[in-house]
Amino acid sequence: MTALLTLLVPIIPFVLYRACTNYECSITPLLLQSLEGWTLRDLLQSVPLPTASAWAGFVIFVALELLLYCLLPGQHTVGLPTPTGNALVYKTNALSATLATIALLFTGSYGLNLFPATFVYDNYGPLITVGTISGFVLAFLVYIKGRFYPTNRDTTVHGRFFYDFWMGIELNPRIGDFDIKMFTIGRIGMISWAVVILSHAAKQYELYGQLSNSMALLLVLQLVYIIDWAWREAWYTQTLDIMHDHFGFFMAYGSTCWVPSVYTSQAWFLVHHPIHFSPIELAFILAVNLLGYTLFRLTNDQKITFRESEGQALIWGKPAKAIEAVYKTADGQERRNLLLASGFWGLSRHFNYLCDLLITASFCMCGGFTHILPWTYQAMMMWLLLNRAQRDDKRCRRKYGKAWEQYCRDVPYSIVPGIY
Ligand code: NDP
Repeated sequence: MTALLTLLVPIIPFVLYRACTNYECSITPLLLQSLEGWTLRDLLQSVPLPTASAWAGFVIFVALELLLYCLLPGQHTVGLPTPTGNALVYKTNALSATLATIALLFTGSYGLNLFPATFVYDNYGPLITVGTISGFVLAFLVYIKGRFYPTNRDTTVHGRFFYDFWMGIELNPRIGDFDIKMFTIGRIGMISWAVVILSHAAKQYELYGQLSNSMALLLVLQLVYIIDWAWREAWYTQTLDIMHDHFGFFMAYGSTCWVPSVYTSQAWFLVHHPIHFSPIELAFILAVNLLGYTLFRLTNDQKITFRESEGQALIWGKPAKAIEAVYKTADGQERRNLLLASGFWGLSRHFNYLCDLLITASFCMCGGFTHILPWTYQAMMMWLLLNRAQRDDKRCRRKYGKAWEQYCRDVPYSIVPGIY
């Protein structure tokens, strides 16, 4: 399965790219044509070659992010103990790095005329190829590092090449204090997302002399999401991505290619199809976003407050319903955690994922309802979060045993209350 995913998933951004460049962003005619005798060879021949400009753009971007990471001041956040009891320290300065990148982009393009603001859009095909190659190379390097030079004992080798390659061997591969996973996700993935949508907006402006209100709204919603993520980088060190998911192809490629190409597909679509929404339509999309965002923050904050207060926090004005869960660390020590079974965490076990899906839906709505392409991001997020919820349930059941089963009995729904 992971072998198939490693080979097939990287095709998707190219399919979306080809749909936009050759079929006015319609996926159906492209798929129909492929049914009429398209071969893998045809597909490979349609992959844009990685040009020198695309490589230069990518390498300069990564070098800039490395420089900003090292030079900009940042707090030092101590992560939660890993399964083998390591408490890793993270330098958290993603917010200033994100803002500095955006400022440099504006100064370099509009202020100093060093490069066109539309550079990413103009080189998009070759950049997808560069991102794909970089994802494979990075995943291969961390695979070798995990096999032969692991950072610490938070390492798992299953012995099946594609599984280890996709899932990753090391939990937190590091070179000295430099955390490869945190940098790749937070700087390459998240900041390139901002860079790509800004460049697409610049292209729309260049082509039509104005920004459509759909593109303007998309920019605001996605930039707020990215900047808010950067602002809460310290919180991110406590999420599944950092605490439990090992760093392999899934995350490496996800950051170098998937996020900057699939998460940005609405911006891409809007360059070709600028939509002008009515005030009511704009208000509706904004309302969906605000609802999703507010619930997303409230749900995540409820868990943080509950755990920080050791179960003493009031949840919706009432004492929290807590389940005591005992577990053993890898070195055999017995520890205790509390599971919250009221508030949002009493509605479903992953209510925060539902909120994320609402936010994603608001992004996709900016691309309208006439084409599938802007909604591919929603489909991918549904798959990602469903899969994540199942993996998390499995892990928590293994970790907490009877306490988790009790929680599942008290809160039977995984994501959507009353439905799933
Ligand atoms: P959660 O924040 O839901 O964390 C899950 C962990 O929390 C579990 O492994 C368990 O860890 C603990 N936990 C589970 N249930 C309870 C409970 N009832 N009470 C207390 N602790 C509990 O998941 P993620 O880390 O996956 O996601 C964090 C946020 O990031 C979410 O809002 C998610 O939607 C978002 N996200 C966004 C993505 C995107 O691309 N837009 C991708 C992935 C995530 P422990 O071992 O500590 O008990």
